[in-house]
Amino acid sequence: MSEKIIALRDTLAEICAHVEAYIDFPEDEIEVKSDRILLENLENIRTELKALLKTYDEARFFREGLSIAIVGRPNVGKSSLLNALLKKKSCNSSEIPGTTRDIIEEYLNIRGLPIRIMDTAGIRNVEDIAEKEGVKRSVESIENADLIIAIFDRSEPHHTEDIDVIEKIKNKNIIVIFNKCDLSPVIDKQFILSRLIPYTTKFLDISALRGDGIEELKDMIFESCLRDWKEGREGIVISNLRHKLAIEKACESIERSIQALIENLPLEILALEIRDAMDRLGEIVGIVTTDDILNKIFSEFCIGK
Ligand code: GDP
Repeated sequence: MSEKIIALRDTLAEICAHVEAYIDFPEDEIEVKSDRILLENLENIRTELKALLKTYDEARFFREGLSIAIVGRPNVGKSSLLNALLKKKSCNSSEIPGTTRDIIEEYLNIRGLPIRIMDTAGIRNVEDIAEKEGVKRSVESIENADLIIAIFDRSEPHHTEDIDVIEKIKNKNIIVIFNKCDLSPVIDKQFILSRLIPYTTKFLDISALRGDGIEELKDMIFESCLRDWKEGREGIVISNLRHKLAIEKACESIERSIQALIENLPLEILALEIRDAMDRLGEIVGIVTTDDILNKIFSEFCIGK
């Protein structure tokens, strides 16, 4: 990131050097860049700064963490999966389907990504008030989750409750898990996948009990949330609020310098705004703008010779 900021600041210094040389040494007949080229350069810098700002929002997952909801009908292995991800000995899993319990929330870290993972109480039609509350909370946690892990039991035919689950998670960021792959396969996978394929292409067989497929699942979780920011980003991410604010200020100065150029305001104003943008970027990489521009003027133009 420093390299990028330094390069942008350097380009600004060059533009500023041209403008200030023209202001300070008009008698030397310096060939000043045309307004059109200046404008183009400034607009390019503005675009690059805006792209950097965007990464701050997208890097939210690294700062605030990612929330994942594990959903599935009772007894498919939600608690077992949570425990496998946490590498805990199973403590919540129960053989009685629908055992009433609250949403269990745990924190883990996958490849440096902080994750809040919720094992939901299950989604189904229930009469019991306490269970109803649990189901309501499950639905809410699905709404708020960044990623849904939908679990199905591979060792049994699908239940109508599995269809309820599918209905609730459509249009979400989903990973489909077929659990209990240590047992003989029974479920009609195609039946499940054909209903979810418009929304996801990520599915995996695992055994939460034995730990099969857990590492692949972790990779899948990481990729499904960070796929977007990887593309076309040169790997640069702004994650620090102070940096973000400095870039915002630099962007505002560039914006004003563009306006100054368009409105044919005195070149001094243009130079002032560019210097301000340079100072803001300098704050990020620890460079103080003082002699940089003068150095550039003297190195690039034959002034006073
Ligand atoms: P939940 O109700 O969805 O949270 O399901 P649980 O995690 O409580 O698991 C229900 C039952 O399935 C328990 O008896 C688990 O031991 C069992 N189970 C979970 N995962 C697996 C698995 O991968 N293979 C096998 N054979 N059994 C599993």
